[in-house]
Amino acid sequence: MISSVTACEILLSGGTVVTMDEDRRVIDDGAVAISAGRITAVGTAAELAHLAARRTVDCRGSVVMPGLVDTHTHLYQGLARSLGEGMPLWSWLAELMWPYAAHMTTDDARIAALLGSVEAARAGTTALLDHHYAPSDPQAVLAVADAVESVGLRGVVARGMAGTPSAVATAHGLAGRLFSRTSSDEVRLTKECIEARPPGSRVLVWPGPHNVTYADQDLLRATAELARDAGTGWHTHCASTPHDPEVYRAAYGTTPVAWLHRHGLLGPRTTLAHGIHLDDAEVRMVGETGTAVAHCPVSNQYGADGVLRLHDLRRAGAVVGLGTDGAAYNHRQDLFECMKQAVLVQRMHHLDPRASDSGEALELATREGARLLGIDAGTLAPGKLADVTVVGLDAPHLTPHHHIPATLVYAARGSDVTMTIVGGQVVFEQGTCTFVDEDAVCAQALERASALVRRAGISRSHPRRTAVDATPDHTRRAEAIATRRVSAPVSADPMHRSEG
Ligand SMILES: [Zn+2]
Repeated sequence: MISSVTACEILLSGGTVVTMDEDRRVIDDGAVAISAGRITAVGTAAELAHLAARRTVDCRGSVVMPGLVDTHTHLYQGLARSLGEGMPLWSWLAELMWPYAAHMTTDDARIAALLGSVEAARAGTTALLDHHYAPSDPQAVLAVADAVESVGLRGVVARGMAGTPSAVATAHGLAGRLFSRTSSDEVRLTKECIEARPPGSRVLVWPGPHNVTYADQDLLRATAELARDAGTGWHTHCASTPHDPEVYRAAYGTTPVAWLHRHGLLGPRTTLAHGIHLDDAEVRMVGETGTAVAHCPVSNQYGADGVLRLHDLRRAGAVVGLGTDGAAYNHRQDLFECMKQAVLVQRMHHLDPRASDSGEALELATREGARLLGIDAGTLAPGKLADVTVVGLDAPHLTPHHHIPATLVYAARGSDVTMTIVGGQVVFEQGTCTFVDEDAVCAQALERASALVRRAGISRSHPRRTAVDATPDHTRRAEAIATRRVSAPVSADPMHRSEG
C-alpha cells in the first residue's frame, strides 16, 4: 500500500520486505518508510523512491521484517544463566531460583534487565513481556521497567505477586521468603506501579501472580479486577507441567483453567505462560474467551515440561505468542531459536513434518505476539508502530535463500540481525546497542552474578545424569509420553523442600 506522503525520517530500501500483513506479502526489492514512530509507507523500492528521507538505509541483501515480540521472559534470571541443569521445574524453583531471587538487590535486577534487554535488542526483539519476581518492591519493578526502556525496547513488566501462601504453596515447599506479603498488599503495590507507568508509557506494568496452581485464589480474583479497572492485561504461569493440574485437582477438585473459567477470569486481558497441560474442555475455554497463551518451546524442552496443543488452541480461538522464558530456563533471549523450535517440537510430537511450518512460527513471533501484548505492531503496514528488524543474509549459513520464511526460521539466528528499530528509533545497529554501553553492562553483570550466587549459597555444579536407554524406539517413546501425560508420575518428588 502506498501512502501519499512525500517525505519520511527513515527509509529502509532495497531489502526483501516480509510484511506479515493479512496477505503475508513478501516484497522483493522492497522499502519501508518511517516517520514519527510509525510506518508511513510500504512498497517496492521503486514505488517509494520519490520519498525525501532524512536517512536512507541500504537494505539490499537483507530482510526487513516486523520486530519480534517476546511474550514471556524473566530478565531478573539473567545473572543465573547456565545454572540448574537437569532439575524438574518445581525443584528448580525451590532449590535454585527462589534462593537466588531472595538474595537479589534492586541493582542486581536492574543490571540483569539491562543485560537481557541488550541481548534481546541484538536478536531483533522489539517488545517483551518481563514477568518480574524479584525483588518485587515498587522501586525494583520500576527500575526494571526503566532499564528495558533505556535500551529502547517497549513492552510490559508483569509484577510478580506471591501473596498470602495458599495451601498448595505451603504443602509443596514453595511458600518461602517471596511469599512475605499478603495478597491485598501485593495488589496495592502493583496498583502503585501501574499508576507510575500510565497508558502511553513505552513500558507498562501489569499484575503478574506467579502461578495459578499455587497462587492464593483471592489474589487471582483481585488481579483480574485490578487489570480490568486499570485497563491492562495480566499475566501468570498456568499448567506448565503435568503436576500443575494434578496438584490443583487434589487440592481444589478442579483444574486451574476450569477454575479461572468458572470465576470469569479468562478473556483477552488474561495471558497465560505455557498453558501446556489442558484437556479438551480447557482448550475450548481458553479459545472461546480469547485468552492468550505465551508459548515457550525452548524452555518447555529444557525442563521436559510437555508440548503445547498449538493447533487445538489456535483453532479454538486462543491468541498464541512466542516466549523465551528467561535467561535461566532457556539461556538465551533469542526468538529466532524459539521460532525454529516451535516448529520442530510440533513435528516431532505428531511425527508429522506438516504439523507446523515457518509461516506459522513467524506469525507467533510477530503479529500474534503483538496481539498478546496489546501493541499496535507485529506487521509492516502503514499506520503501525515502526517496530522493525533487519536481518542480513550475507553469510554462508544463509546462502542460498530460496524461500525467505524458511530461511528466517531454520537458518537465521539472532546474531544475524543487523538493525533493530523500535518506534522509529534505531536501538541496535553496526553490532552495538545505541543507547547503552554494552561493555559496561556485561562487566557489571559478571561482577554482580558472582556475588549474588555466592550470597545465595547456590552450587555451581550440576546434578548427575540419570541413565536412559540410548536407543529408544518410537513406539516405546510414544508410550512413555502417553503414560506420562495421563498419570504424570515423577521418579523423585521435587516438591518437598522449603527454601527462599
Ligand atoms: Zn516463566
